[in-house]
Amino acid sequence: MTGVRTTILDVPIRRAHAFAHHSIDRQSYLIVEVDTDAGITGLGEGVSPGGPWWGGESIEGQKQIIDHYIAPVLRGRRAEDFSSSREAIDRAVYGNPFAKSAVEMALLDAVGQHRNVPLSLLLGGSARDTLPVRWALSGSGDSETVEDATARLDEGHRALKFKMGVLPAEDDVRRVAWLVEKIGADVDYLGDPNGVWDLRTATWAVKELEAIGVNVIEQPTPRDDPRALAEVRRQATRIKVMADESVCQLTDALAAIGQRLCDSVAVKPGKSGGLRAAALMEAVLRPSGIACYGGTALEGPIGTAASAHLFASFTHLPLGCELVGPLLLADDITTGGIQYVNGELCVPAGPGLGVKLDPDKVARYRRPKQD
Ligand code: MG
Repeated sequence: MTGVRTTILDVPIRRAHAFAHHSIDRQSYLIVEVDTDAGITGLGEGVSPGGPWWGGESIEGQKQIIDHYIAPVLRGRRAEDFSSSREAIDRAVYGNPFAKSAVEMALLDAVGQHRNVPLSLLLGGSARDTLPVRWALSGSGDSETVEDATARLDEGHRALKFKMGVLPAEDDVRRVAWLVEKIGADVDYLGDPNGVWDLRTATWAVKELEAIGVNVIEQPTPRDDPRALAEVRRQATRIKVMADESVCQLTDALAAIGQRLCDSVAVKPGKSGGLRAAALMEAVLRPSGIACYGGTALEGPIGTAASAHLFASFTHLPLGCELVGPLLLADDITTGGIQYVNGELCVPAGPGLGVKLDPDKVARYRRPKQD
C-alpha cells in the first residue's frame, strides 16, 4: 500500500433513533481509503452505532488507532497479502475490532477491484442476489412508530424489530403489545432491549412477549452474563433467543455452542474484527444448529455493502438481515448506492464492494476538525 487515509463524516439521519440508553440524530462514519501500487483505492468504513456505548470504540478512537498504529504497518505491503497484514496488525494493536474491520474491508475492496471480482467471491461466493431486510422501529414514540411500520410493510418489508429498553420493562412490554395490536399479527416481530434486563425481569418479559406474538428476543440479558441468557432460552417455549452483545468473537461463538446459549446470533463484521472473522463465525455456528442473522451496527452505504457481500455468501440465512443503515440516512454519500426493492436489499454488483464515494458529499459532511 502506498497510502492509508481516514476521514470522519457526520451524516444526518431521517428521524431520531432511540436505543436503550440514548437517541441519535446523526450518524458518524470513519471512511478508510487505501491506495495500492496499481493505482486502485480500496474503501472501508468504521462505524459505532451512535457512539461508543455499544462496542467501546468511538469513531475518533478508530481514526487515531488507524492513523498512528495500523497505517504504518500496512505501508509497503500488498493488498493481496491481507491475511499476513492482519497478523502484523494484531501484533501491533490489541482489540479494536471495529477499526480492524474497517481496514480489512478496504483491503478486500482493493483486491476485488484489482481482480475484477465481487467482494463476496473472496468470502466464498454469493448464494443470493438479494437479502430480506427487517425494519428496525425506534424505541420511542407511539403513533409515529405505527405510521413508520405501516409505511415499511407497504414497501415490502415483512419483519420488524422493536428497539426496547428505553422504558421500564412493564411499560415497554405494554407498548409492544399496543404496537402489535395496531400494526397487525401477520408480521415477523423481534424485540431487542440491548441486554438491559436482569434475569428475573427478562424471564417475565419474554413470557409476555411470547404471548403477544413476538417470535425472537434479542439479547434480553446483560452481555457479560451468558448463564442468564442460557436460562432465558431454557425457559422459553416458542420464542427464539438471539445473542448479539454476548457473541462477538469466534471464541464467544464456540462458548455459545457449548453452553446452548441461544438459537441464533446477530453476525456483524465490526464486532468480530472483520468480514473474514464473521464468515468464520458463520462456518462454526452453522453445523451446531445456531442460525446466523445478518445484523447491523447501523453501517452507512459502504459498510452495508460489505455486510451485504458477507451475508450473501451465507448458504443459510433463515432470519434475513437488518441492514437498514442507508435507509436511516437523509443523504447518500456514495454513487451507485445501495438499492432496496420490495423490502429486500440488492447486493451491489461490480468488482469489490460495488460502491464508490461521492466526492461532493464527502466534502459536505466531512467533520471540520478531524482530530
Ligand atoms: Mg442488538
